[in-house]
Parts: sequence; structure tokens; C-alpha cells
Amino acid sequence: MPRKGVPTAQVLRMLEELYDPPRSFLQFTTPLELLIATVLSARCTDAQVNRVTPSLFAAHRSAKSFAQTSQRDLEKAIHSCGTFRMKAKNIRALCKLLVEKFDGEVPQTMEELTALPGVGRKTAAIVLYGAFGKNEGVAVDTHVQRLALRLGLTKKSTADKIALDLQEQVPRAKWGRINALLISHGRAVCTSRNRKCDQCVFERHCPSSLLRGYRDLSEKCH
Ligand code: SF4
Repeated sequence: MPRKGVPTAQVLRMLEELYDPPRSFLQFTTPLELLIATVLSARCTDAQVNRVTPSLFAAHRSAKSFAQTSQRDLEKAIHSCGTFRMKAKNIRALCKLLVEKFDGEVPQTMEELTALPGVGRKTAAIVLYGAFGKNEGVAVDTHVQRLALRLGLTKKSTADKIALDLQEQVPRAKWGRINALLISHGRAVCTSRNRKCDQCVFERHCPSSLLRGYRDLSEKCH
């Protein structure tokens, strides 16, 4: 795909020199915990989810326990993660299915995961990579979307299309990794409200650099 911006392979290489992120920024000890945490993270920060899940996971150690808890109690426990009614409904329903179809375990394929209530391709890709180390898709959240657009890695506007675009450009073995790397840079340097372009390793080639006009002008003066 023709594009202007920093070559994707270069972005990946430079980010790997800068950061060594975990497979997931969500705290979990089992695939089930990562699945629940990822469902909770929709339109909510990882930090907030990580504040809520320790007590939630202490109270519910199995899919059966989540399936059997009342809608009201679960809503109360996850209230601060936003859209709590829908999330509680989906968590209870998906855990019921896990018990019925998978003996309470989290399945390890994209097809099986996306058949669960409230689990789309992004959530499934995060769980498959984070819990099982499987690269089944690039998960595009707000950080990844912002960075991909600012760096010129894509011209697509929706998360699903950006995911497909990145999957064409990034080796499959790095699909999970690039999500965590772009999130790291998006949090440390290229935040949504405050781009620190003067501190960014991509500044000279980034099409969205705030310093671009000044730099171009100063280069012409030499
Ligand atoms: S140069 Fe600026 S806009 Fe481009 S990636 Fe770096 S911080 Fe973001």
C-alpha cells in the first residue's frame, strides 16, 4: 500500500529499541482473567481496570463463579469501568458459554472467541496474544489508531481497516508486539493531547510533527 510517513519496519525496529512492554498492560494471572479484563477495558483505561480487577478476581476464580453471580452484584463490582450494564451482561453470558462448551476454559482460536458475547476481533487478538502468545491479529485501540495515523502507517480511518492495513505491513510474528509498542510510545511521547515531538525519535520523518514547519525552514537556511 503506498503511503507517506515513517516506514513501518523502521517504526517497529526503533520502538523495539526503546521499549520492552509486557504482552498486556492489563493485570491477569489466567486466560479467563485476561478475557474479563479486556472486556472491561472497552472505553475504559487499563489503569482503571487494574484497580477494579484484584477484588473482582479474588471473588470469582472461575467462569462458573462469574456465570452464577447476579447481574446486580456484578454491575456493582465493575461500575467504575463504564457501560457496566452491558459489560456485566456479556461477562455473565460468555462465562455461561465457557462452562457449557469449553469446560470453563478460554478457547484458543479467533473463531471460537469471537463467537462469545461481547468479544470482537480486537478483544480476541489481545487475549490470544496476551494469554497464549498467539499472533492472530493486530489489536487497534485508541493509542494504536492515533500513532498509526500520525506516523503515516495508514490512511484508513476505522480501527478494523487500520488493523488489516497494519497486518499487511508487519510480520505476523510481531502482530501482538506492535500493539504494545505503539501503546508505549503513545503513552510516553505521543499522547492525544500533548505530542512531545521535540523528544520523539521519529520527529525528522514524521508527517505529523509539530516541529515540521520550523525544521523545514531551518534546513533551507543552511
Ligand atoms: S513526531 Fe510528534 S506527532 Fe510524530 S510520532 Fe513523534 S510525538 Fe507523535
